[in-house]
Amino acid sequence: MLAKSAKTSYARSLIEASLDPLVTISADGKIMDVNSATEKVTGVPRKELIGSDFSNYFTDPQKAQDGYRLAFSQGKVTDYPLAICHASGKITEVLYNATVYRDEDGNIAGIFAAARDVTALKKAQRELEAAILHMQLIREMTDLLQSCQKMDEAYPIMKSAFMRLFPESDGGLYMLDAAGNSLVLADSWGDIRLEAVFNPDECWGMRRGRIHLAGCCNSINPVCGHVCADAGPYLCIPLLAHARGLGLIYIEPRFADPNADGIERMLSIAEAAADSARLALANLTLREELHELSIRDPLTGLFNRRFLEEVLDRELLRMRRSEQMLAVAMIDIDHFKIFNDNYGHDAGDEVLKKTGHLLNGFREGSDIVCRYGGEEFVVVTTEVDPQKILRRLENLRLEVEHLSVKFGNQQLPNLSVSIGVAIFPAHGSNRVELLNRADQALYVAKEAGRNRLVVAG
Ligand code: GH3
Ligand code: MG
Ligand code: MG
Repeated sequence: MLAKSAKTSYARSLIEASLDPLVTISADGKIMDVNSATEKVTGVPRKELIGSDFSNYFTDPQKAQDGYRLAFSQGKVTDYPLAICHASGKITEVLYNATVYRDEDGNIAGIFAAARDVTALKKAQRELEAAILHMQLIREMTDLLQSCQKMDEAYPIMKSAFMRLFPESDGGLYMLDAAGNSLVLADSWGDIRLEAVFNPDECWGMRRGRIHLAGCCNSINPVCGHVCADAGPYLCIPLLAHARGLGLIYIEPRFADPNADGIERMLSIAEAAADSARLALANLTLREELHELSIRDPLTGLFNRRFLEEVLDRELLRMRRSEQMLAVAMIDIDHFKIFNDNYGHDAGDEVLKKTGHLLNGFREGSDIVCRYGGEEFVVVTTEVDPQKILRRLENLRLEVEHLSVKFGNQQLPNLSVSIGVAIFPAHGSNRVELLNRADQALYVAKEAGRNRLVVAG
């Protein structure tokens, strides 16, 4: 059996050996005893702690008092979450285990409480939750990007994903132009002034094909040419796929705490997001290019017949709903064969290109101009007033008369076109009918001597 003083000293050593803050609290909520771990976590010396209100040392004193009352009523509480505030302001998140203790007569004398520091655990948990959220966001972004049909649809999706991945950041999304010579600002967010266009060589991220972090900490990374020399920390995330540049994401993050850990985490989020975005964007670019190829005539750059047929059906539906008129004009170059025969096929091609260019300039609003085949073009225009359509087409015919085409340094003779027009709904209710009626009117125009406009009769 230990003597009373030996017992006390034994208990003291046991309490002091604990790395967890331990405290006994009287029935009226005053601290009665603490170990040195409590002094350490509060930054308050033992002398001051003893006798003071225990709830003073928590970020939420009310919650601490509620826990204390709970321990009283139930005899104990386990894993009661609180946050201890150090004199310096530093917060330690803890879980409290508390039990009541009784005096020799068995009456409740107070509470004995032990805290377990869970700050690191909580931090890891928060990081894990954030990482899961980032992964979900990136997956959602990729899913949506894969369902985009046009590049324009992809920009807002990427913008909102990056805004959520890097909260409170400012940034911009650049896309490389078709020639690959310029990065063009497609969208931006936050309070920031960005270069609207710059050469990819001005960006270290694009040059090196990897994320470039500059203006930050002890980094020796140079500041890119497209960024203000006195810029704060920023990231250039190049979007490259299949050895081909697609674009760039520029981000100016707001670091709450710019430590190495935070930067590392930010870089890995950027890496993962860019990895997903670039593949989806590469597919989208490819799809857009294939679609363009499938609907354009390579010689004139005008839409082809396939596209016209598709779009004319749609336009007619629209006209039916809005009770509007639509005109189909079949335009054929007169005696085109002579250009081929007298000046060669390449000269004939030049005539087709110039005529195509002129027709393209004729477009207004939702007009569609297409090369229907050979030296035949179709113009579809929607209008409320048929007289206006005919006036416009008549002007077009006159413009062709004055079109000057050169092949090499040879001036080619003037050309003319014959035009056959059919109007919806007067001359037909569907695409086939309208095209046939326009073709018949064109035939009449040819028979009547060419270089004229004839409306289906
Ligand atoms: P018309 O006034 O009756 O329309 O006479 P035309 O000579 O314009 O019509 P025709 O149908 O007799 O001849 C059209 C020519 O267009 C025949 C064809 O070789 C030529 N052609 C078709 N496609 C092309 C092309 O892509 N390039 C060139 N250079 N010629 C083409
Ligand atoms: Mg012809
Ligand atoms: Mg023809």
